[in-house]
Amino acid sequence: MSEPASSPGPAASPSRGAQAVATAPLGPLAPLGPRVGFGFDVHAFGPGDQVWLAGVCVPHTQGVVAHSDGDVLLHALCDALLGAVALGDIGQHFPDTDPQWRGAASHRFVTHCLGLVKARGYVVGNADLTLLAEAPRLKGHRDAMIARVAELLELPTDAVGLKATTTEQMGFTGRREGLAAQAAVMLWPAPVAPTVSPEL
Ligand SMILES: [Zn+2]
Repeated sequence: MSEPASSPGPAASPSRGAQAVATAPLGPLAPLGPRVGFGFDVHAFGPGDQVWLAGVCVPHTQGVVAHSDGDVLLHALCDALLGAVALGDIGQHFPDTDPQWRGAASHRFVTHCLGLVKARGYVVGNADLTLLAEAPRLKGHRDAMIARVAELLELPTDAVGLKATTTEQMGFTGRREGLAAQAAVMLWPAPVAPTVSPEL
């Protein structure tokens, strides 16, 4: 994660933002209607020989600098889920000052955020993710990544889009200093269980 606003102080004193999220009501949102969410995340390259992307371990000439496993696609996805239900950002829910998240697998974050979406009375309709990087490339890993994201979001694979682009050798991604990701989700109100008349 790379959310500086959420980690200004020592681990013993969570930010006011984190407290606000922790006490936020989790009942269904009203009025009911579709909601969209958008997420963005960045990680710098660092020592290592693999990068986690969309829950898949991709061999690479470098790793990423991160408190967790640094899965930039899943972190962007978490922010999209949280944003859609107005529950802050990933740094508020999983502070990088908290030792319990050191090296954590980011699928845990997605599962938690999906639980919050459900608690708000919503289900995910589809997700669309984009990786911005010169390397590594998604070729050979794309199907596994889509399958993993679909599994995490409890969706069919055709409800998950995954794209990749370079930035034409411009900017920090173009200089191969790191990688970035964007994610968008559409949420729909959860179907209400039909009530069955006793005489039927
Ligand atoms: Zn991140």
